[in-house]
Amino acid sequence: MEAKKISPQLLSPCISCGYCLSACPTYQITKDERSSPRGRISLMKEFNSGSIEVTNELFVEQSSFCLGCRACEPVCPAGVQYGALLEEWREITWTGKNLPLRIRGLRIAVTMTPIIRLLGRLRRVKRNTQKNAGQGSDFLMLGCVERVLYPQLSRVIAKRFPSIVINDDQGCCGALHSHNGAPNKGHEMALSLGQDLPGRIVTTAGGCAAHLSTEIGREKVIEFSEFVLEKILAGELTIESPIYIDGKIARIGLQDSCHLRNGMAVFQEPRQILAKLGTFIDMKSSKDCCGAAGTYAIMRPDDSTAVLSKKLVEIEAADLDFLVTLNPGCQRQLEHAPDLRKSKVRVLHLVELLELSLSTQTLEGSRQIR
Ligand code: SF4
Ligand code: SF4
Repeated sequence: MEAKKISPQLLSPCISCGYCLSACPTYQITKDERSSPRGRISLMKEFNSGSIEVTNELFVEQSSFCLGCRACEPVCPAGVQYGALLEEWREITWTGKNLPLRIRGLRIAVTMTPIIRLLGRLRRVKRNTQKNAGQGSDFLMLGCVERVLYPQLSRVIAKRFPSIVINDDQGCCGALHSHNGAPNKGHEMALSLGQDLPGRIVTTAGGCAAHLSTEIGREKVIEFSEFVLEKILAGELTIESPIYIDGKIARIGLQDSCHLRNGMAVFQEPRQILAKLGTFIDMKSSKDCCGAAGTYAIMRPDDSTAVLSKKLVEIEAADLDFLVTLNPGCQRQLEHAPDLRKSKVRVLHLVELLELSLSTQTLEGSRQIR
């Protein structure tokens, strides 16, 4: 049987111009063409032409060194879909005995819906099943990681947006599979989640949002910052004033979600909301990957730390009170960064900062939180 190849129609648009090099975090670290998007595309073309084997060390290594952050996509004049290329590439290299054990374990874990549901219930994830919920309803997607690590997000959403249906009998969206060598299974899981949640799907995880919107349609998915802005514009949600800390308006920074920004072009929406919640500091590195990158921080901790280190200096210098994330993986990565743990900055998901603002307005009659 002929070995699987990477789709030529995905590879052929690349004109080798190199505009993507400066946007690529791994190239910025190594300054080595081979760890740039253009270098990786050349490797894929060499593999397709048969000049290198699937076991070629560089071919295998670069498929895992790449973060999958897709920062190379928006800067590419030829519209190369690098995220789709990487999914196919890892399907070829991360297979059989070459599939890393931890990835194998994670892939199995996220398909065990009853266990994920049980863990979520133990963590008191909010449930809010409503009668007559259907195509015209908004459903909250409960991400697998989020259910276990950040169950409070669902509780805030249930409290502030009671019309959203929160049904905990839902599976994983399949992003983990698609990004880690099993795109067909990832596609199948996204379709199944679309059936479990038949209306519009509200997500609080950037990686899941981008995957779902590719698989089941952009119109079916609304990311939390888009949802909040929609409510503000409709007059259904009001942020009366910014958050104050010790008499000063809070300084707020943002960690973009790579997939949200580079895959769905959602980056203005969280900025508009944060500008209402305090003084928004738009750092140059906000758009750069934090190194979490799905399973990357687990699989390549040293490279993940190297990517993160590049942005910590700017975060420290920005004198922030809050650093806001839009994705649980980024939140965990930044919460655990030793330099940030020592500093005054609090890492919060946008859901949590919004709740802090709304609760200090309504419960204490004051925006002073310290
Ligand atoms: S991926 Fe796009 S930006 Fe990078 S070399 Fe190819 S055409 Fe140029
Ligand atoms: S996905 Fe990110 S790390 Fe990978 S080639 Fe593109 S910019 Fe570089």
